[in-house]
Amino acid sequence: MVTGINTSTCNPRALFSELPIYTPLHYSNTLSSITGANVYLKLENLQICNSFKIRGVGYMCSKVVHEKNCQMLVSCGINAGIACAYAGKKLNTFVTVFVPINTPDFIIEKIQNEGANVYVKGKDIEECECYAKYFVEQNQYSYYIPSYNHPDIWEGNSTIIDEIKSQLGDTPDAIITVVGGGGLLCGLIQGCQKVRWENVPIIAVETHNTNGLQLSVNNKKVTDVPKGSEPLARSLNIKRICHQSFTLSNQHPVVPVTITDAMSIKACRQFADDHKMLIEPSSAAAVSICYSNIIQEILELEPTSKIVIIITGGNDISLDQLESSRHKCSSPVPIIVKSGNEIFMKLNGTI
Ligand SMILES: *Cc1c(COP(=O)(O)O)cnc(C)c1O
Repeated sequence: MVTGINTSTCNPRALFSELPIYTPLHYSNTLSSITGANVYLKLENLQICNSFKIRGVGYMCSKVVHEKNCQMLVSCGINAGIACAYAGKKLNTFVTVFVPINTPDFIIEKIQNEGANVYVKGKDIEECECYAKYFVEQNQYSYYIPSYNHPDIWEGNSTIIDEIKSQLGDTPDAIITVVGGGGLLCGLIQGCQKVRWENVPIIAVETHNTNGLQLSVNNKKVTDVPKGSEPLARSLNIKRICHQSFTLSNQHPVVPVTITDAMSIKACRQFADDHKMLIEPSSAAAVSICYSNIIQEILELEPTSKIVIIITGGNDISLDQLESSRHKCSSPVPIIVKSGNEIFMKLNGTI
């Protein structure tokens, strides 16, 4: 039996409130003792569908199903696709998800298990998105649900801040997140503006080959990431951040930081060992700047400081993937890590 939500009687907010869950905010003993501050983890890996994506995607799906004559939701990408498939099931609406050709079988099965139709098309997420949009053009009453570039996505993502505020009962000294297309960053900044946390710095972590925010901030305009080798942090691998994330980064204190793939893989392993949870390298990148204590170069931390790390989670990780990626970057290359326009740091390959 399908337990769907009766869409004819509810408003989108009420519909949406039945999709994401309220995730825990955990104190991390390990990261607190490494950094000498109080580090809290907002565990979106424990969110429905194992990532924060259901917040934005779920909100937009609720609105589209309620307000438009929508018979099919169309999405692309791994975590956004899984979230959309789940939302569609709950909203009693068909879902079609496009994923790129390098997508692991277990992900395709996971999307199908939510009842969605899956097409494996395109060599990367950009190509895949073109197929999805073309499909929407060809199918009346179908709606494309973008994963990061839409006001409804940002609105849904902003609910993370409301939760942190009531859980922490205090204003944090900084929030650490990762950035892909910037939909999460937009949500966090909008959430901070809503609760009057305009001065809470957001440390925005990317990996090399995915550092679109950092390049844009440094060039003072939205700048494409040059094509390089395929990054391991695939959920961050977006050619260009959304314009809104650039605009909001100029209104709010945002410090972009870029780390290596090797650091994100190492952080994945350390996080699993210390916290008994498996997250994508894309998500572990945020934790990495605490493990490696790069955070000390950015913020003056005191024993009373409170730092919140958004653990974005993600499905694109398994023990096998973690093992093989370790071999892919066994000898980390030196890289310049640059934070904003002020701090330049050279890591010498030892991580
Ligand atoms: C989508 C995603 C991100 C990046 O979010 P953006 O809104 O694209 O910046 C980070 N981590 C995980 C696990 C994701 O699924």
